[in-house]
Amino acid sequence: STEPAEPASLPDVGTGVYWVRVALDVPLPGLFDYRAEGPLRVGTRVIVPFGRRKLVGVVAETADTPVIEARLVKPVEQVLDDLPPLPDDWLRLARFAAQYYQRPLGEVMLPTLPASLRKVSAYQGKRSAGGPVKRSDARQGAKPVPVQPAPVPVLNAAQQAAAQAICELQGHKTVLLHGITGSGKTEVYLRAAQQALAQGRQVLFLVPEINLTPQLERSLRSRLAAIAEPHALAVLHSGLAEGERLRAWLRAQRGEARILLGTRLAIFTPMPELGLVIVDEEHDASYKQQEGLRYSARDLAVWRAHDLRIPVVLGSATPSLESWHHAQNGHYLKLSLTHRARDAELPSVRLVDTRRLAMQQGFSPHLITAMQERLERGEQCLVFLNRRGYAPVLACSSCGWVSQCTRCTAYTVLHRGRGGRNALHCHHCGYRAPVPRACPDCGDQDLRPMGRGTQRVEEHLAEEFPQARIARIDADSTRLKGSAEALFAKVHAGEVDILVGTQMVAKGHDFANLGLVGVLNSDSMLFAQDFRAPERLFAQLMQVAGRAGRHVKGGQVIIQTDYPEQPVYQAITRHDYAGFAEYALAEREAVGLPPYAYQALLTAESRELRIALDFLSLAREVAQGEPQWFPMLDALNLYDPVPLRVVRVANIERAQLLVESASRPALQGFLAAWMQALPQLAAEKRVRWQLEVDPLEI
Ligand code: ADP
Ligand code: ZN
Ligand code: ZN
Repeated sequence: STEPAEPASLPDVGTGVYWVRVALDVPLPGLFDYRAEGPLRVGTRVIVPFGRRKLVGVVAETADTPVIEARLVKPVEQVLDDLPPLPDDWLRLARFAAQYYQRPLGEVMLPTLPASLRKVSAYQGKRSAGGPVKRSDARQGAKPVPVQPAPVPVLNAAQQAAAQAICELQGHKTVLLHGITGSGKTEVYLRAAQQALAQGRQVLFLVPEINLTPQLERSLRSRLAAIAEPHALAVLHSGLAEGERLRAWLRAQRGEARILLGTRLAIFTPMPELGLVIVDEEHDASYKQQEGLRYSARDLAVWRAHDLRIPVVLGSATPSLESWHHAQNGHYLKLSLTHRARDAELPSVRLVDTRRLAMQQGFSPHLITAMQERLERGEQCLVFLNRRGYAPVLACSSCGWVSQCTRCTAYTVLHRGRGGRNALHCHHCGYRAPVPRACPDCGDQDLRPMGRGTQRVEEHLAEEFPQARIARIDADSTRLKGSAEALFAKVHAGEVDILVGTQMVAKGHDFANLGLVGVLNSDSMLFAQDFRAPERLFAQLMQVAGRAGRHVKGGQVIIQTDYPEQPVYQAITRHDYAGFAEYALAEREAVGLPPYAYQALLTAESRELRIALDFLSLAREVAQGEPQWFPMLDALNLYDPVPLRVVRVANIERAQLLVESASRPALQGFLAAWMQALPQLAAEKRVRWQLEVDPLEI
């Protein structure tokens, strides 16, 4: 025929009217009908009227007829054609995430785009000239910082074998690269990336918290520079200015960036030729988004790779038990690096039983002596303590008063400010108060700090080792932009003898001259209520232990504990991840916890705890009272609603209800049906609520 064929996805209703369903970032389920003057592809961004506002949305479907009465359907106001429509695989990923995490599609799609691509003001109004894409392209001047390509090491046999196994994969496979700290996983990633690049594919390289570890970015940049043109790399994380973020996103989306290095949000970047996904430190909790769409970038990476039929490499020295379980039962391909890449053995780990020791300010004589020896040899020491501030609480020695936040069910933490000016901080709501001169209850002036945080440890070490140069690295000492980088640079330059730090120092850093790691206070993590606490503790101890003796011989770790017989600690002394995992998985299986069960958490917030709990009870009754809606109920466990451990934060009371099932489809089916009822219940009870699938902390 002479008629040009119209693609199936662009229905012409014959009257020059085209119906589209648009995803909008509004907290309402479903899509919204609009009419367009011409055919629009799915994935096209549009500006549409919504109530009294205008919004940027994404065309998610086209339709032959609108759902609502045709004359009520408003027209699309502007078609944003500065970019091609978002690609199909991106739409599939967004649809999957929306369905899996039980969120409206628009609330998934729009927030993943750089802000200016979803702001009406970026296209309409005084300052919108040309639109954000054009303005960004015009500002191409910012050239990437030149980097010195780093020398490429010759892979050892284990690295070689792992890299080869990855390179030989055809189609989709999830690879779990289990490599001890310092085993050279990065080189394996890079070798796999190199091959993908050579085959004309793009690589997505996810790392946790890149903004905290510019060292990693630098070393990756220099290594990547050796395998690709420097401009082939784009970096994407939440610390970037909007313009930089848009530029990186555009370069990946156009295929100009061949490698995208980014944090969790980078998982949603369109990459037309994606051929390999790498998730470094796959166990890291930073991959879990904790607000809005509570997704796991690690899990979405696996889904996206499966969808695209490409390999994904999950790497860690301490894999999540979920990933390890998949590897053990053959779903994932497990590759292992069991030795350190450099000529250095793993540090020896010693447990110091603190039950019968005379401790000084939290330090055992063993740890002090060991530090002394290292310092005399010119090596660096790291004291690890996961608690910032001076002391976790201030207490009255005569009546038992303790410093508490007036807005939260939490102690306020004593902080020592500049010039010795102390203050009490609430770590939950940010509230700050001056330190009272006397006890508010009994008037006694003898108020004492109880326990210790990094500031107090730093103070004590300064007295103990007056010659030593001490640096503290925690969220307080690194508040200013660039200060973390500056502090780490001092450590690397050898201008620091003793480093005191929180988990910020545990991750990723390759300290050349660090001989000793001392761990204080890890017992507090041992008995946390969360069933994942031992897993987290083990990972954290392995990570921090892995900082010792990376380049120097005879590295040592000293862990002070009241519970040396605990399996977590015993496994650490043997660097035995597999042993720990076997023990922990057996325990989880016995009581039916993840990865042997799937969970979702419904949380409610209200000014009154009773109302939050009422809402959750009602939510449970709805499910139990409507068997025709919830046929899968038998396969589910709905627990009692309970207050959160820290029940009140900033005067809001919080409660939760845990849903669990041994069957993921049963849980998914239940949640989808439940979501039909929850919004109305919540509106009636006037509670804020959220549903989290696969919660990390319960
Ligand atoms: P991981 O990420 O597994 O903890 P890294 O990738 O950081 O380990 O490597 C640890 C150290 O070993 C780095 O300093 C790295 O440059 C070095 N390294 C890695 N592979 C080799 C190799 N084949 N030969 C020599 N040094 C290597
Ligand atoms: Zn008192
Ligand atoms: Zn508070």
